[in-house]
Amino acid sequence: MNIIEIVRRFNTQRKCIRHLEFIRWHGKVLCPYCSSNRTTALKRENRHHCNGCNKSFSVLVGTIFEDTHLELPKWFVAIGLILNAKKGISSRQLSRDIEVNKNTAWYVQMRIRKAMNEDNLLLTGVVEIDETYVGGALRNKTKKHRIAQKEAGKTTTGMEHKKPILGLLQRSGKVITRVLTKANGDTIKPIIDQKVEQDTTIITDGFGGYAGLEKKYKEHQIVNHEKDEFVRGIYHTNTIEGFWSLVKRAIIGQYHKVSGRYLHLYVNECGYKYNNRNNPALFSGFMMDALATNSI
Ligand SMILES: [Zn+2]
Repeated sequence: MNIIEIVRRFNTQRKCIRHLEFIRWHGKVLCPYCSSNRTTALKRENRHHCNGCNKSFSVLVGTIFEDTHLELPKWFVAIGLILNAKKGISSRQLSRDIEVNKNTAWYVQMRIRKAMNEDNLLLTGVVEIDETYVGGALRNKTKKHRIAQKEAGKTTTGMEHKKPILGLLQRSGKVITRVLTKANGDTIKPIIDQKVEQDTTIITDGFGGYAGLEKKYKEHQIVNHEKDEFVRGIYHTNTIEGFWSLVKRAIIGQYHKVSGRYLHLYVNECGYKYNNRNNPALFSGFMMDALATNSI
């Protein structure tokens, strides 16, 4: 859905509530506290009373929209802008676009990102696995590197610690990412175990953390970058590397200095958009995720 359509269709709080109620309940109101369907619509706009537990609630309870004072039409526009921005949108830009202060924009954006999780994905077929590093304080790098950077006139402050990110990407399919504390077999393999089906051809570079995958999976092909080998027929990691350049463009281009604490949310956003790149119903799809994500 494009922005004009969102602005037109969801221009009042009530219309937004109706839309969310439809997506969440399909006409059968359920109490979010006790799951009872014995509910009564209250006269007070948009609220319901539960005859099971005696509480009252709106469709926003237990969702990313709970307890916010920002009116829903602005939330809807923010969601549309974020979903449509291929390279991401900074919170400063968002604050101008929906006319809220910078802190509100940041908070809205973080809640929206939180809903972009795809915990249930499982990969199969041909899966490229690779790791990349984002950020990196110069003070944490080797002395040789620091001196070289200094001599080149580059700044030595303002960068976060380098964090490894693991990416698993199914060819013509979806990507899963995880921010790691350290990249090695012990951190990587449990993720692969959990997310990749055994009947899979796995392609990686020669990094030691991937050693031994052939024992568990149908096939493990290693493309040896150290020996200048990058493509061997269908065996390459170019797709996941293309995804990494998207991530880096988004993080460097839009978000500048991303705090390590929130890095996984930024990377998730890139993955979510990549995975929904051909989804014509992304806006309503996202609303389902937003309603299923408890932000509190
Ligand atoms: Zn109840």
